[in-house]
Amino acid sequence: MSPAHRRPTRRGLLALGGGLVLAPVSAAVLLTTGRTTPRPSAESPPSRDAPRPLLASAAPPPRPPGWMDGAARKPIAGNFTPEGRTAQRGLILHVQEGEGSLFERFSTPAYRSSAHFWVSQAGEIEQYVSIHDRAWTQRAGNAAWASIETSGFARNPLTGPQVEAVARVYTWGVRVHGWPVEVTDSPEGAGLGTHSMGGAAWGGHACPGTARSAQRAAVMDRVRRALRV
Ligand SMILES: [Zn+2]
Repeated sequence: MSPAHRRPTRRGLLALGGGLVLAPVSAAVLLTTGRTTPRPSAESPPSRDAPRPLLASAAPPPRPPGWMDGAARKPIAGNFTPEGRTAQRGLILHVQEGEGSLFERFSTPAYRSSAHFWVSQAGEIEQYVSIHDRAWTQRAGNAAWASIETSGFARNPLTGPQVEAVARVYTWGVRVHGWPVEVTDSPEGAGLGTHSMGGAAWGGHACPGTARSAQRAAVMDRVRRALRV
């Protein structure tokens, strides 16, 4: 027996002596040295205590989707920070002070602003930015909060279909991203907030105005109904 032949034989015996404690390694050794190791399976039956391969438990859990089912997906090419979110505190309500889809405006590099969602007065929902990316609409509040623009003007309340649509977006956020089912007026809080609550650090806007801000309670009623909570 040559030294070159003895070495794999000893490895095979070591593997047998240790049972299948190192299951993936010893199985591979047994396979490569099987011709010189008699009936390994009979002398060393698989143990129930043998650790499982690490691969299955080491895989990270799948990330929740950043794009909402049921919204028209219209990704913009710029004007946002990829992977720029640091928390999921909830959703900030905005008013457009205008009408019509914001896709073209947010797609214009010089505009340097964006929101995750936009809702038409008829209740159509467009999504421009993944929830995992940071939209640029409420400055210091961008990293921790998602944002939704609502078509129309602050002097007018949200239409009924807009209330329903904002509630659909929020319900999705609760189910998929764990947004809390509540209204908040604090940038340190969580829930459905307003642009104005962030003060100067968020750009110093009165957005979305008193009428639309007050409708957040009606939005949350619909969210609770959808979630049955
Ligand atoms: Zn705003």
